[in-house]
Formats: sequence, C-alpha cells, structure tokens
Amino acid sequence: MPVEPVPTLHDKLRALGDEVQQTLEGAGERLGRLYRRVARGRFEAGRDEEVRLPVDLHALAHGKTLKVAISRLAPCPRCQGGAGEEAGAAGASAPALERAKGCSECGGEARVRRREELTVWVPPGADEGRKLRLGGRGRAGLNGHPDGDLYILLTPPELPKGFRRRGEHLDLELGVPAEVLRAGGVVSAQTPHGPIHITVPPGSTSGRQLRAAGQGLARWGRPDERGDLLITLRAR
Ligand SMILES: [Zn+2]
Repeated sequence: MPVEPVPTLHDKLRALGDEVQQTLEGAGERLGRLYRRVARGRFEAGRDEEVRLPVDLHALAHGKTLKVAISRLAPCPRCQGGAGEEAGAAGASAPALERAKGCSECGGEARVRRREELTVWVPPGADEGRKLRLGGRGRAGLNGHPDGDLYILLTPPELPKGFRRRGEHLDLELGVPAEVLRAGGVVSAQTPHGPIHITVPPGSTSGRQLRAAGQGLARWGRPDERGDLLITLRAR
C-alpha cells in the first residue's frame, strides 16, 4: 500500500502560500470587477456643469433674453450614445461604451463634444451667486444614466458711479449745486429705468435724503415688486 509522504513544514507553508495567493487573486478579481463597475458608472453617468453669464444693467433691471454659448459632452448623433442602429455588434444589453466601439463619429466614446448656443430668459433682480438651472443640458449620461443639468451662474454688472445696491433697493449719491439746495429746484438723475426728475425742496442741506418709490430693482423671483431709489443729496 502506497505510503503518503509526510508533508514537511516547507510543504505546509507552500500550500498555505498557494491558498493565500488564490484568495488574493479571488479578491483581486472581485476588486477589479467592482472597480470596472464603478468606473463604468462614473464614465457613463451624466454630470452637472456650470457656466458663468455676465448680466448687463438692462437685464438686471428688467430681465432679458440672453444667449449663452456652451461646450458639452452630448450623446453621439451617429451611434446615438451607443444605442442606435449604427452602434457596434455588441448586444443591446452591453454597456454603451462597448456598443459604441468602432463608431466613426465618436471613436467609441458614445459622446461627442458639441458647442451649443442656448437662449435663456434671465429674470430681473439677479444678485451675485444666483443660478438658473437648465435640466438635461449638462454632460450626457449613457446606459440610462440621466443627463446632467446645466447651471448658469449669473454675474450682475457694476452699477453706474454713485449707485449702491441693497437687495432690490438702490442708493444714489447725487451731487447738487449748493444754490439749488438752498433755493430749491428740479434736478435730473439717471436710473436703470431711464432718467428721472427730482424736486429739491428749498432750504435743503447736504445729506438730505429723498425716496423715489419703485425706482429700484426688481426683487428676484418677484418681478412685479420693485424696490425704491434712495437719493442722498450732496452739495457740489
Ligand atoms: Zn458614436
């Protein structure tokens, strides 16, 4: 009857080593699969994008339709993001990036960078940091991942000299001849809504404040509600 060799310590260690290696390889494969899944999810997911849009004084005061040029990753028009008939031979259940392989338009990326010009209505009253959201205009998603959104960050303009902003209200320091302050009179001032005439009561002193109701800016989200213009008369 054959005699089984008694394993030496070395053999035992080597066997253990094989086992450890096997386990590591198994874990490595699992990690690799996980990584590929995560990476695919990351590359195929849509993403929100942001673009800055300078707002001019007219848009700030009244709202305005503005154009904004963007460059974004959109679904490939030829293979339709790996979903169309032009898509490669890989089955319909394959990831979009595999199905887009060989597409002459996107080179297998399933998305192409495209310049687009969007027309947006910018409501009045934008202050620093206000954003508009355009759903689905960010980076396109693949394989049923939704497209990202586009955020338009509005940057309001510098106000003309002498103006200061307090939300929807405006302050204006207005230089007036000392004679007009003393005797009274009518002076004019430019506002974001056009020129206005201001009656200066006689006997006014430098620093007197006059309120022009409704001559400020619109309140964000409430275009019908306009703030006031607070004018501080300064002897000139
Ligand atoms: Zn393509």
